[in-house]
Amino acid sequence: MSRPRKVSDPDTWPEECARCGEHHQLVASWPDGRICGYCYLAAKRTTGTCSCGHHGVLPGRIDGQPTCRGCSGVKLNVDCLTCGAEDELHSGGQCWRCVLSATVDRLLTNPHTGAIHPTLAPVASALKAMNRPNSGLTWINQQHVTALLTNLAVAPVISHDSLDALPASRTRDYVRGLLVEHGALPRRDELLARFTTWSDQALDRLPPVSTATPSDVSSAGT
Ligand SMILES: [Zn+2]
Ligand SMILES: [Zn+2]
Ligand SMILES: [Zn+2]
Repeated sequence: MSRPRKVSDPDTWPEECARCGEHHQLVASWPDGRICGYCYLAAKRTTGTCSCGHHGVLPGRIDGQPTCRGCSGVKLNVDCLTCGAEDELHSGGQCWRCVLSATVDRLLTNPHTGAIHPTLAPVASALKAMNRPNSGLTWINQQHVTALLTNLAVAPVISHDSLDALPASRTRDYVRGLLVEHGALPRRDELLARFTTWSDQALDRLPPVSTATPSDVSSAGT
């Protein structure tokens, strides 16, 4: 997520940042001084409990300690329009978790029914609850993950067989694991299942065998 930091450039940006002391483009004037783009981004992402007891984003600085907006006087929009949480916003006034949540709903909703298959509900909840919503969103927006989830969304029945029909991937294994953990699919012996798939494919790859009659077999042995 973090952009590589450019080298301090006093020729272009003569005024130093009040926080890091380096010379970068200054993007905000806050009570503790003018701060650069890097420190601004870091401030938006600083969360914790302020000395006043407020829990949330702590973009301000008082005596070097991160502080909430109320205590520091820093003006910053970190209020999610959807869930009301105080968090770094992703887009459209929504926090990362709300955007992740909307993405999961969009991918797992069957366009024909306008609903998420009830069997997939635990998958949807688990994906929405991922620990780090920003990494989660990056993961889910990968083409192979998006494809798997949209395929799953339109599957008429969710079963081991319907999962087997999707391209093999770690994402597929992960989704299968979630369904089994939540009792939506019976537990099965994955090693045995993999062996069966492998042996079916191995048999398919063999050249066709001409049908031998019992007399051919006995004469072949002589
Ligand atoms: Zn800075
Ligand atoms: Zn505070
Ligand atoms: Zn939100």
